[in-house]
Amino acid sequence: MVSSDQLPKNYDFAEVEERWRGTWRDEDHYFDRNSEKPQFVIDTPPPYPTGNFHIGNALNWCYIDFFARYKRMKGFNVMFPQGWDCHGLPTEVKVEELNHITKNDVSREEFRRMCRELTEKNITQMRLTLRKMAFSTDWSNEYITMMPDYYGKTQLSFLRMLKNGYIYQSEHPVNYCSRCETAIAFAEVAYEDRETQLNYFDFGGVEIATTRPELLAACVALAVHPEDGRYHLLKGRKMKVPIFGHEVPVIQDTAVDPAFGSGAVMICTFGDKQDVHWWKQHNLALRKAIDRQGKMTEIADAYRGMTAAECRTAILADMKSLNILNRQERLAQRVGTCWRCKTPIEILSERQWFVRIKPDEIQEAAHQITWYPEHMLRRMENWIEQMEWDWCISRQRIFATPIPVWFCKKCREMITPDEKDLPVDPTLVQPDHACPKCGGNDFIGEADVLDTWMDSSISVLKVTGWDGKGVPPFFPAQIRPQGHDIIRTWAFYTILRSVALTGQKPWDEILVNGMVLGEDGFKMSKSRGNIIVPEEILLKYGADALRQWAAMGAATGSDIMFSWNDVVAASRLQTKMWNIARFVMIQLEKEGFDKNVPVTALADRWLLVQLSDTIQAVSDAMECYQFDVALKAIREFAWDTLADNYIELAKGRLYTGNESRKSALLVLSTAFDSLCRMLAPFTPYFAEECYTNLNKGASVHSQPWVSFTYDDEAARNEGNLLVQVVAGVRKYKHDSGLALNAPLGKVTIYAPHTVNDEGDTGRTLNADVHWRTEEAQLDRAITDISFNRAVIGPAFRKQAQAFMTAVRALSPDQLENPPKSILLEGNEVEVPENAFTPKFSYIEEGAKVDVITVGDVIVTMVKSA
Ligand SMILES: [Zn+2]
Ligand SMILES: [Zn+2]
Repeated sequence: MVSSDQLPKNYDFAEVEERWRGTWRDEDHYFDRNSEKPQFVIDTPPPYPTGNFHIGNALNWCYIDFFARYKRMKGFNVMFPQGWDCHGLPTEVKVEELNHITKNDVSREEFRRMCRELTEKNITQMRLTLRKMAFSTDWSNEYITMMPDYYGKTQLSFLRMLKNGYIYQSEHPVNYCSRCETAIAFAEVAYEDRETQLNYFDFGGVEIATTRPELLAACVALAVHPEDGRYHLLKGRKMKVPIFGHEVPVIQDTAVDPAFGSGAVMICTFGDKQDVHWWKQHNLALRKAIDRQGKMTEIADAYRGMTAAECRTAILADMKSLNILNRQERLAQRVGTCWRCKTPIEILSERQWFVRIKPDEIQEAAHQITWYPEHMLRRMENWIEQMEWDWCISRQRIFATPIPVWFCKKCREMITPDEKDLPVDPTLVQPDHACPKCGGNDFIGEADVLDTWMDSSISVLKVTGWDGKGVPPFFPAQIRPQGHDIIRTWAFYTILRSVALTGQKPWDEILVNGMVLGEDGFKMSKSRGNIIVPEEILLKYGADALRQWAAMGAATGSDIMFSWNDVVAASRLQTKMWNIARFVMIQLEKEGFDKNVPVTALADRWLLVQLSDTIQAVSDAMECYQFDVALKAIREFAWDTLADNYIELAKGRLYTGNESRKSALLVLSTAFDSLCRMLAPFTPYFAEECYTNLNKGASVHSQPWVSFTYDDEAARNEGNLLVQVVAGVRKYKHDSGLALNAPLGKVTIYAPHTVNDEGDTGRTLNADVHWRTEEAQLDRAITDISFNRAVIGPAFRKQAQAFMTAVRALSPDQLENPPKSILLEGNEVEVPENAFTPKFSYIEEGAKVDVITVGDVIVTMVKSA
């Protein structure tokens, strides 16, 4: 134990945090594959390596670290891996920006190398923040999705699902972002409210209303409701498309809304999901008017090469000059946009790769998982229920996991690599055997790559040791922590893939965290200027304060507003706790405590009861991930119960050096030891600093979770009484303008039963305290009257003085129950309400005393002379 006079007066978080960061060993957080302990494997989210670990990540990781540390203390073999989800467009765009190139200026391999290099640099930077935040990461289980050992597994999972029928290739309409030049999945479509124009034009005598005139070249049919009398003559007819001149059939479908526009609609391939539905239903032709770059194709004739927007303007102008544009109206519309770049998505029919979605088996697995908070399961259910299309997993990008497939040039047969040869890039290498169908030796490698979610949705398989053979050794993981914004993607895809590859649920539990909002209550964004960077908080207040904010900001699962005030309050708590710690250390140093000393004083027993209750409450909260509840209970115990109540009560005893001092010492050290352990998951630096000073250099992080219990019902009740009485008298001192340590003379406490306080009350109040069980014998006398001039003034004006004289003449009984009226200079006048209050004094054994009541306890006090 460090001598208490060597302990700094102030807690210097910067010095302490840096020192421990340099002392702790990574090995202490490694998952032990040979351990007998129960496993607790965490499927940590792999963040995108942007270079900045943002505040939302920080919140998510704080939650993870709270329970990772807690579970370790509870005796679990914990795996807290760290992954990095590297592939994808944002890095490609960044590389283009930084190198002033476009992806087509260099070879695919060179472009990938540049992406890898940038990603590695960013990961290095983010690892540093993770370490500063004191996350107890298992660095022996780090994975990086762009590395061969990871994306080899992604490819293996692809081949397995191809083999068992979950993955197929097909030409099918998909959501497509023409800016990103790639197909995207439904989960990646964001919806935005926009205003557009509804254009009414003449389609060979039928009025059509459309928001997408640029798709006229892709028109494949007109549709009307079968019972719409206006159009029964059109039945079975063909119509000529204006401007383009090709003929299209008129179809009838009950899904057409006769009340919308003219009641006739044109079907294009493809304006929206409904078009896709009709196109399939009625077996219509396919006309591709827009290409992958968002440009008009050759079927658009004169408009070929224009962007969709240019084409729209041109067609409307042409309609006008042809005199077929009847009118235009404003229309509010929800538009599907690319979640990354906000470009409105097009629906293009393309040859793509798909994962078959089987809603029933995903529902079943989702229901076998325990969801925290429970209502998040509803979101998953809703998403599964509305699933219409399979998951499009092919992307037309570069920095991603290659699809490990070739096609025979001669017979189009699909060739897959041997699993032992993975990973492969089919655009760089050729199969090592001839085509099994035709014997050909010429192959085309698949140039499409995989959706990034194909990488990240096997994170749990990777960390549990999947090698392609059935169920991995540590599967399922115990918990998946993640944000609610990726339930439709990461959670959904992970469940789908686990079921497809192992036949089982991926985790026992899922813990869903909320989003972090700016101090103004809005989503953080550059344009609002309300972004808070974790590094800034770390610099000003340290990791422990930031971690406390994360725990206390909101109930787990709720969105949480960032607040500097909360961070400041957290750092204040550390200051206060440090003062308590120093006090405890000084006391323990004076005379070593004896673990076997009997605890007799009421205050001591009471504190142990409170401590036991707190430990129970904190443990219960930790078990169900209610970090705000847990930390609040710890704070209240430390601040209110221990510092404000107990130490104030026991201080005098500790200074006197009598026998029961030892009992107080034991209690103090028990309480403080427990506090350190309970704080260890939340404020690992601070808890370590306190614990190590009290325990000759031992680390709190290798201690078990606190298991202390203490049951003493009498101490709970009497102790509460004791604490309330002391607080009451202290308040009385304060209200009477006395210093808290001012001597008070004789204090008599009339309580239902006598209390053995070992003299604590007297020392704390600096008074001669007597506990009595008999009833107080008090005589009460009115010694003064306090007049309310705000009432009397306006009511009596010049007669105010006379009124007060009249009141003073009333009998004590009348003063206590004022009459309705009073005689004033010969006139009966009304006594206004609240005009005066009598002031009482009490006489006890012939001496004037002050009295306060605490519940049904009466306390009398004689002010010392
Ligand atoms: Zn996009
Ligand atoms: Zn062949």
